[in-house]
Amino acid sequence: MNRTYIDELGEKRGEEVTIQAWVDTIRKHGGVQFVLLRDVSGIVQAVVTKSQLELFNQVKGLKPESVVTAEGIVQEETQAPGGFELALTVLQVLSEPQVPPAIPIRGEEADEVSMANRLDYRWLTLRNPETAKIFKAWTELEKGMRGFFEGNRFIQIYPPALMNAASESGAEVFSVDYFDSKAYLAQSPQFFKQMAIAGGLERVYMVGPVFRAEPSFTSRHMTEFTGWDFEMAFIESHENVMATEEAALCSGFVQLKESLFPDLEVPTLPFPRITMAEAKKLLQQAGIQSSRTDDLSPEEERAICEIVREQTGSDFVFITEYPRSVRPFYHMRISEDSPNTRSFDLLYKGVEISTGAQREHRIDVLEQQAIEKGMSLKDLEDYLNFFRNGCPPHGGVGIGPGRIIMKLLDLSSVKEATFLPRDVKRLRP
Ligand code: ATP
Repeated sequence: MNRTYIDELGEKRGEEVTIQAWVDTIRKHGGVQFVLLRDVSGIVQAVVTKSQLELFNQVKGLKPESVVTAEGIVQEETQAPGGFELALTVLQVLSEPQVPPAIPIRGEEADEVSMANRLDYRWLTLRNPETAKIFKAWTELEKGMRGFFEGNRFIQIYPPALMNAASESGAEVFSVDYFDSKAYLAQSPQFFKQMAIAGGLERVYMVGPVFRAEPSFTSRHMTEFTGWDFEMAFIESHENVMATEEAALCSGFVQLKESLFPDLEVPTLPFPRITMAEAKKLLQQAGIQSSRTDDLSPEEERAICEIVREQTGSDFVFITEYPRSVRPFYHMRISEDSPNTRSFDLLYKGVEISTGAQREHRIDVLEQQAIEKGMSLKDLEDYLNFFRNGCPPHGGVGIGPGRIIMKLLDLSSVKEATFLPRDVKRLRP
């Protein structure tokens, strides 16, 4: 069978085609039956008249959401969406629903279904083209970013999720039974990607699951999420990392615009950069209360994005030079006696989407910083050993693509942007 996708039908007017699709809706109009057929690429109106009595009755008996193979001729029809329709000749039902859908699939009624229900019935909500588009957007964004990495000498690595020790802090880590001992689920690929740098791969990127045993109930947090990470060697400062990240994101946005969202604004480079200290000043001038001086609350992140958007037109802003107190021991300090680090967060439309930094590659300084944070050098031994055989200056970022897609598509939660989200209360389907 030579299957045609629905989005290819417009170029096949006058031709006989075979499509495979779901039955969306069926309508009768006088002696004519109309059936909307939906595949992953689009929706087409198919039509059958009473003169084809057997087929007419077959269509009449169709259950919505059945899966079918349909043959027909693509013909002009100015009334139909796209200006054409499929004049049916053969219809074969491949699968028929046993029960009606538990929730409405399309239209206004579908918009009113609660998020919890939408997630419970993902196999139904994915049939809504708007929901399917969320996951097409992930693919295109990643394709664009991957193109950037591939064009800039990055190597993809595949780090493990199982670890023998809790990676960075010990808190927020899931433990699992591992034969006669315990293993932990990686809360970031941080240590592994730095090992790749010590190993001489110079530039690496990865896509993988990240686990956080945080009892968070926000629209930004899940217990498992997909992380995009990269790490690069021979940098002079965190500025090189920011320049790389914004270029990679821009490449992702170009791909999104070319594939799915022709009206999307591709961000202009460079993204604005403001230090934490400057951000606090701007917030104060705007009359926004700060409960602490060393970090931004979610409200402050929203407010600073609004201020930057007003001043520069940018949806993105790097907040740089976070104080040591809120950064992990492996972030490099601006200088030996500086209270601040060569680090940054990237905010997009009011939400943090990524954290990055230049890492401390000098083993003596790294050990000292770990001790200052009250960490045990013995527990960190495997990690610290990576740096004992020589390691170039390097830095990188961890990106949460779910949050980017959430903001890009104006979704209410990162869970809506996630194929099968996992949170404190949700482990199924
Ligand atoms: P937050 O301060 O929002 O809790 P974080 O500082 O813990 O985030 P990082 O450890 O820096 O986040 O992780 C890098 C990126 O991964 C974040 O910028 C965010 O985009 C994403 N991310 C972090 N935690 C979560 C989570 N629980 N669920 C979904 N995405 C997350």
